[in-house]
Amino acid sequence: MKTCLAVDLGGTKLAAALICGGEVIEKHQVETLSSKDPKVLTSALRDLLLPLASRADLVAVASTGIINQGILTALNPDNLGGLDQFPIHAVIADITGLPTHVINDAQAAAWAEFQAYDAKYDNLAFVTVSTGVGAGLVLNRALVTGSRGIAGHAGHMLADPAGPRCGCGRKGCVEAIASGSAIGRAGVPFFGESTTGRDVYMRYLAGDSNATAIVERSASAVAQLVADLTISLDLDAVVLGGSVGLADNYLTLVKDALSLLPTVYQPELIPALSGADAGLIGVSLWADTETK
Ligand SMILES: [Zn+2]
Repeated sequence: MKTCLAVDLGGTKLAAALICGGEVIEKHQVETLSSKDPKVLTSALRDLLLPLASRADLVAVASTGIINQGILTALNPDNLGGLDQFPIHAVIADITGLPTHVINDAQAAAWAEFQAYDAKYDNLAFVTVSTGVGAGLVLNRALVTGSRGIAGHAGHMLADPAGPRCGCGRKGCVEAIASGSAIGRAGVPFFGESTTGRDVYMRYLAGDSNATAIVERSASAVAQLVADLTISLDLDAVVLGGSVGLADNYLTLVKDALSLLPTVYQPELIPALSGADAGLIGVSLWADTETK
């Protein structure tokens, strides 16, 4: 069995693990990338990957953003700072000297969840509600990455034409209403300038009516997104994940909002099982199937 060096490049963390047959053998993580300078990232990748590369047969990378022809971009390039147009495939292949595969992190997590649910849903979407809102699609038991790497960026589907402007430039995206960042911004008028999504969520759990309205609006937008994906792709199940998606009672709020719709819009709505290693495990399993 091949040993995979899996890499997870997130907005604020960088992780690498040796994975064999879906089992994490050894994992290392850099908690915060203090700079979004390409030279700093390249140096951090070298420090992290070089000690592990000699024990691996291939490299599989789950990255934030859009991976198009091995180059990292984003719908909102500001999120990447100086890392927009970073040649992630070439940099990692050069450091490790190994066959290298790169996909988006939500796509990788979708593949992890497809496997975690024993591959029993032929058509599945993974929706993550966290700092942003992302998704990954498994259709006819295959991960869909798209010809430009964009497939699954469902957080940028329309939730409310009169909603706030999203970082991608469009007005009223699901992400601009439902994400943890959006929840925090919506809480500012009520709870003060430094309010975070987590602050609002804690107030919601404590019964505050303004916080409840904000969190319910988020869950309602996610429910509509789940309904849209289900009706357009004929999904069997939608897996909900992310720090907001898995927060206390959020899944129930989304289910309650979905239950108001006709049954044809209601997939099986289930929680993500793979936890913080979803990207690492998913991309390693996906790379295994790509290289068979
Ligand atoms: Zn958007």
